[in-house]
Amino acid sequence: PPTEGRPDVLIVGGGIGGLSTAFALAREGLRIRVLERAPEFGEVGAGLQIAPNCTRILDEYGLLDEAKELGVVPENMVMRDALDSRELVRLDLGDLERRYGFPYMVIHRSDLHGLFLRACREAGVDLVTDQTVVDYENTDGGARITLADGRTEEAPLVIAADGLRSVARQKLIGDDVVSSDYVAYRAAVPIEQVRDNGIAEKDVTVYVGPRCHFVQYALRGGDMFNQVAVFQSPKALAGQEDWGTPDELDAAFEGTCETVGKGIPLMWRDRWWQMMDRDPIDTWVHGRIVLLGDAAHPPLQYMAQGAIMAIEDGWVLARHVSRLRAEDAAPSAVDWDAALAAYEAVRVEHCRRILTTARAWGELWHLDGTERLQRNAIMRGVDPAEYAFTDWVYGPTALFPDEEPPMFRPVPLTSARIEESEAAAPD
Ligand code: FAD
Repeated sequence: PPTEGRPDVLIVGGGIGGLSTAFALAREGLRIRVLERAPEFGEVGAGLQIAPNCTRILDEYGLLDEAKELGVVPENMVMRDALDSRELVRLDLGDLERRYGFPYMVIHRSDLHGLFLRACREAGVDLVTDQTVVDYENTDGGARITLADGRTEEAPLVIAADGLRSVARQKLIGDDVVSSDYVAYRAAVPIEQVRDNGIAEKDVTVYVGPRCHFVQYALRGGDMFNQVAVFQSPKALAGQEDWGTPDELDAAFEGTCETVGKGIPLMWRDRWWQMMDRDPIDTWVHGRIVLLGDAAHPPLQYMAQGAIMAIEDGWVLARHVSRLRAEDAAPSAVDWDAALAAYEAVRVEHCRRILTTARAWGELWHLDGTERLQRNAIMRGVDPAEYAFTDWVYGPTALFPDEEPPMFRPVPLTSARIEESEAAAPD
């Protein structure tokens, strides 16, 4: 049933971040209201990769089995060179699951969003659409939002989960989004359409190439095939407004290997995503207004951790709410200041690492010439079974700063190792 009267928490934005946080806090017995700008709750786009640091949380929420039914658990994650299609590194996702205890899986964005929407409804979250929040302010013992029609609402805590172009972020921080000059095209097509394209149906495959990359994996129990094509837009580099258009898509992938070349004509051409992030910031908590998800830390998507970070944010906040509440206290008796301080203390640094690594990861993927060969040698030299480069991301989400594992640092390369690697490279 919808919440009567004043909620304990107002959440602005009903994307994956807002809804997953609403569910996490409702599980703690709090009365939650979600205010969403759109006329309906929903997600645009196609596939989403969810790594063990997220499936671990879905399992705790009792949602993992359903997620697995809706999605696909691939066998391998394979990186290939987009020009010669040779393999660079292969992660066995079965081994990865044994390592982390939870699967690496892929799911349609609307299926994951729908899962949280149903979970919120069942948990009694008050879900309200057609609510555009235009302003935020702190009050005595809480915060207040103003809607586009002038109405206001108040609660002890307001969570701004309003995405990359967050109004709250604009008001509280005032920084700009950072354009990467890269654009993403997506497509999810019936698997029959791509069976003859040389695809690996059971794998997540990433083809990395000069100023471009291409991602493929099956979705919806294997019935659909998801593709993402990303490239640097010459028009963006030239400072033109209208950048990332379909003519640029075709030109960017000329010269890539056959499988990639066959995938490009299938991309949706009526919409594309100019890829933006923001510089990391240290302060997400402003009195009783707190940033969460892309509003706090929008990444470039190369680590495939954006939605996951948002889900982790909500989980961490809810865990601190639970930890800090006396056993006999009423559900609404939350020490918000302490919970928010604990949330910020651990999440800011983790997400800063993901944001900066995503930028560096993107640069590495998109190298050309000698640097491309150096990159390929590094990748071929990686021993996936070491897990040093995934533990800090896929391990259990830290609740305290001292639980955050150290970051992976690659070994420097010599030119002898590059030649050796090229000669020994598998086809
Ligand atoms: P959003 O999804 O942007 O939701 C914000 C919500 O707030 C929206 O519903 C919006 O309508 C609402 N809203 C906005 N303004 C207002 C307002 N003023 N008032 C009320 N409501 C408002 N992440 C992964 O984890 N794995 C992946 O594989 C992955 N792949 C990606 C591929 C691409 C091409 C891209 C572009 C991103 C990818 N991401 C991935 C990142 C992921 O999509 C985002 O990080 C994630 O969706 C952010 O969720 P959010 O809820 O914080 O924000």
